[in-house]
Amino acid sequence: MSLETIKKPEKTCNDPNCPFHGSLKIRGRILEGVVVSAKMDKTVIVRRDYVKYVPKYKRYERRHSRIPAHNPPCINATENDIVKIAECRPISKTVSFVVIEKMEK
Ligand SMILES: [Zn+2]
Repeated sequence: MSLETIKKPEKTCNDPNCPFHGSLKIRGRILEGVVVSAKMDKTVIVRRDYVKYVPKYKRYERRHSRIPAHNPPCINATENDIVKIAECRPISKTVSFVVIEKMEK
């Protein structure tokens, strides 16, 4: 999946770590989740709920993960936004995903 298939944000920015207006390349996994925290500067925490099959009980258990992602100013995701995030090179110790799209609610 490349950037061309993703709709570009209407706004522009001068963040070097923006996949649209900077030099950041995306590769690897594309995930969806809900922003649960947008308190950091240009970084959000995305929560992903998913189900995992447990063969022993033949049932599913609910799991979740929290993924820190870079939030470029042109997208500017806020809390409770449903976003699409893409894997990229590590931007900091914990951040190796970037928000690429804000989904309609
Ligand atoms: Zn941008």
